[in-house]
Amino acid sequence: MTERTLGFDTLKVRAGYDPAEHLGAISPPIYQTTAFDLGSPERVKRLLTFDELGYLYTRLGNPTVAVLEQRLAALDGATGATAVASGMAAVSFSLLNLAEGGGRILTTKRLYGGTFDCFKKVLAPLGVGVDAVGEPDDPASFAKAITPETRALFVETVSNPSAAVADLEGLAELAHRHGLPLVVDNTLATPYLSNPIRHGADVVVYSATKAITGHGNVIAGVVLESGRFPWGNGKFPHFAEPHWTLRDAEGRLRSFLELFPDFPFTMRLRLHHLAYLGAALGPFDAYLALVGLETLSERVAKQVATAGKVIAFLEQHERVAWVDHPAARGNRHAALAAKYLPRGAGGVLSFGFKGTEEQARRFLNATELWSYHANIGDARSLIIDAPNTTHGELTPDEQQAAGIRPETLRLSVGLEDPDDLVKDLAQAFGKAFA
Ligand SMILES: *Cc1c(COP(=O)(O)O)cnc(C)c1O
Repeated sequence: MTERTLGFDTLKVRAGYDPAEHLGAISPPIYQTTAFDLGSPERVKRLLTFDELGYLYTRLGNPTVAVLEQRLAALDGATGATAVASGMAAVSFSLLNLAEGGGRILTTKRLYGGTFDCFKKVLAPLGVGVDAVGEPDDPASFAKAITPETRALFVETVSNPSAAVADLEGLAELAHRHGLPLVVDNTLATPYLSNPIRHGADVVVYSATKAITGHGNVIAGVVLESGRFPWGNGKFPHFAEPHWTLRDAEGRLRSFLELFPDFPFTMRLRLHHLAYLGAALGPFDAYLALVGLETLSERVAKQVATAGKVIAFLEQHERVAWVDHPAARGNRHAALAAKYLPRGAGGVLSFGFKGTEEQARRFLNATELWSYHANIGDARSLIIDAPNTTHGELTPDEQQAAGIRPETLRLSVGLEDPDDLVKDLAQAFGKAFA
């Protein structure tokens, strides 16, 4: 199967899997095993010198997990992929893989709350500096803050929850001019709505917990690489230096760049961070993510269409102060969204509730179909008061910088009947102001 010539919807149900290699099973089997038979000491030696590729231990790799990795790599046009146990592991491992030993990550405050918190509470004490200075739609705001210690630019394609859109090509061009990779969290967009690698990104991370799986039943993450970044440019010596674990049969030490020239980033992440920090994805969860991925386009296309109806309802409602989504009237990210998200900007939006805190509480209690959950991309529609929950760890100043106003309610549009969803919001407004 020449995967690169096939369309997205074909790849999403077939890429990375050949039934002939699995007793003809049409659905990828769940290899629920810790370890794999090594065969013989001679074979172990071939495996450990990478002369033969095979499975040893599920923390380092598993055939069910590998189908998910290869399928997402095919969808995004990546040369390598490593699946991990959560989106947070995908973000933190990627940035550790870039900025270890005193490097700095240049980013924006328009980020998922957990990511922002990880920067502050985990990466900074480990010696990885984070400069959250830029606006994702304004590469010039990043340009001013690049220092000799900067090791990557990091943005979300569509930010959570304020739905700001990053200027991927502008940021990639800036990063590459300084010998730096652009790392993009493409969780809200999903591979269906945006392809950051095509627009210059070097590393793409996902929380597969969200719309990739799409059914609210898995925590999972994935890291992908473009295969185009010149890791030998002097800023990333850890990819070029010889390693004992990468020795050949004669004992000669090799580097990640030498042994895996097409995907050194994801292999180093696998053999260092996944191997020793250990956030491995379980085979059953990988299987659930694969089943969800089979309907990604159909689900997300419907969510985009329904989001349009919900936005239209909110925009005309007297108790709505504003709506944040590229499809909302007058949104300042509409042009970037048309360029990078031609099929729509997804089903996550936020709006300003025009009322007292008590009325907002009554509104949240009154919705019947919009479930009060800290998740997005689910088959069910979800609502949450982001300032108190998903972004509750941020201080009021940090919230303001992230574009999260106190009256913000975030919606994640699901797959229900659109009219039912709109009617449910209408009746909840009625009860909140009764
Ligand atoms: C949810 C989310 C994450 C974290 O993913 P988990 O799978 O919950 O660990 C990271 N980035 C974004 C944009 C998210 O929405």
